[in-house]
Amino acid sequence: MKMRTAVFGFLLVALAAILLVAQQKGPVTAIKAGRLIDPETGAAAADQVILVEGEKIVGVGPKLAIPAGAKIIDLSQLTVLPGLVDAHTHMALTYKEQPENYYYYLTYITDSTALRAIQAASNGIQLLNSGFTVVRDVGNNALYADAALRQAIEQGWLPGPTVIPSGPMIGSTGGQYWPTPEMYKQHNIMFPEYIDANSPDEIVRAVRENMLFGARTIKLCVDCKPWGYSVEDIKLAITEAAKGGCKVEAHVQTVDGAQRSIDAGVYMIAHNSALTPEQHRQMAEKGIFLAGTDTPFMPYRGSESAFKRTVANLRDAWEKKVLLTFSTDMDYWNDRMKDPKTGEWLSRGDLTINFLETWKAAGIPPADILRAMTINGYKAADIIDQRGPIKTGAFADIIAVSGDPLADIDILRNVQFVMKNGMVFKKDGVMTPEKFFHPGPVRMPNGRWTR
Ligand SMILES: [Zn+2]
Repeated sequence: MKMRTAVFGFLLVALAAILLVAQQKGPVTAIKAGRLIDPETGAAAADQVILVEGEKIVGVGPKLAIPAGAKIIDLSQLTVLPGLVDAHTHMALTYKEQPENYYYYLTYITDSTALRAIQAASNGIQLLNSGFTVVRDVGNNALYADAALRQAIEQGWLPGPTVIPSGPMIGSTGGQYWPTPEMYKQHNIMFPEYIDANSPDEIVRAVRENMLFGARTIKLCVDCKPWGYSVEDIKLAITEAAKGGCKVEAHVQTVDGAQRSIDAGVYMIAHNSALTPEQHRQMAEKGIFLAGTDTPFMPYRGSESAFKRTVANLRDAWEKKVLLTFSTDMDYWNDRMKDPKTGEWLSRGDLTINFLETWKAAGIPPADILRAMTINGYKAADIIDQRGPIKTGAFADIIAVSGDPLADIDILRNVQFVMKNGMVFKKDGVMTPEKFFHPGPVRMPNGRWTR
């Protein structure tokens, strides 16, 4: 009797597993690609077919048999490529020229975490519309608005890129800014933005806390203060983060801080402004990713002299073969952010893609820029085993443009088609996001609710 119950139980479990697998599959879609770019090699193949079933790619090739009843998406006049990555941005912070004169502290007071989370949701839709299917969202997002955005997109409430959130930046006393004694002692005005961690115990606790609340990467303020973090401190954060499957990005703004980060072996360094040519050489040797945050000189931001330095630094990092990512730090706003021709507001996606200006000025070839915007971005986001490259088994994150971005990288400014997780978000240059909106959570990644 016991044996029979066990067999019956086993059969029930097997049946449930089969049903679960069947549920995860969906109708097949066949995408006909006029040209398909592989950013890893910089090669393009003509007349390819991509088969998508449910959320994933199930076949790619020149003469794939299209199953009967498959939905056909005809992109035969377009160039198809994987989605783009902004490897360093802040989705839930928009500090403005008016009224706060770009003074972050005031933004923290005027914009609640809830308002900032909604701004982040809007930014996500705008970025997806410009072809960005992955963003690393690294700090200054109030009380885990970044982790909430990731959760909402993964559960299927709304469209958006795959978000790799860091939670609040971890730093030594004061974080990135210089709070007043009132702010510091109260610890509740700007402190959702930072976690103070001044000892090994506090560093371990801070890393664990961020991972508990949904971080997928850990961001350290290495040298935001003169007392900063030592090589041992950084190594401790790396070891602890690894236990939760997270890699460490170091914010650096001094040569010394950069050197400590390199010596400790961080995964990624944010901001190129303090790095020396010798440090670029060491980063290339050690395989450390760079999120340079290479601000262009635009009517709404920057100066000519700063731009020249930014371009020279990016050029040097490229010459030294550092693992470059496309990264922006795009978290500000003013009323000059308009298209000079039409007078219309630029979207968050337009403002992000404008960083191409720095890469072009540095004379970096389109194939290398595209690799930074895709393959290196997926690696830096630590998701390349799941999504990014257009290959069998990967999530279907696919974009298309008219023209050849390997000849003219500005073609990326005009994204005609976007698919995210196998669902069409944009077609013929028009957003069609209705399939992404649900009145409840419809997806449970890994078969469970995600924190
Ligand atoms: Zn930043």
